[in-house]
Amino acid sequence: MKSADASNRNRRGKSKKQPTQEHQARLLRELAEAREELTRLERKLEHRPDFGLGQGSPDIYEWEMNLALRKRVLAKIASLEDALKSLDEGDYGICERCGEQIEPERLDILPDTTLCIRCAQRIRY
Ligand SMILES: [Zn+2]
Repeated sequence: MKSADASNRNRRGKSKKQPTQEHQARLLRELAEAREELTRLERKLEHRPDFGLGQGSPDIYEWEMNLALRKRVLAKIASLEDALKSLDEGDYGICERCGEQIEPERLDILPDTTLCIRCAQRIRY
C-alpha cells in the first residue's frame, strides 16, 4: 500500500496514534516469562555435573545445553528491556539501521525487533 497520507502521518516518531500500548503489554509479558525461564535455568545450572564423567555424559550435555539456553534468554531479556526503553523514549518501532518505521505486522510477531524487514533481510543474506 502506498498512500502519501499514511507516510506523512508516520513521519518519524511524534505520531499521535498509540498502537504501542498493546506492544508494551506484550513486551512486559515476554519479559516476565524470560525472567522466569532464567530463574529456572539458573537453578538447574547450580548443580554442576562431574566433568570427570567425560564429554559423552548426558549430564554434561544437558548442563551445557542449559548454559547455552541461559545465554539466549539473557540476550532476549536485554532486547526486551531495550524495546521497553525505546517505548518510553518514544522511538519504539523505528528501524535502527535505516530510521524507517518498522512494519506493524512485523512488530506484532517480533515486538522487540530493532530492524525493519528490509534491513533484517539484508543482514541475514
Ligand atoms: Zn530498516
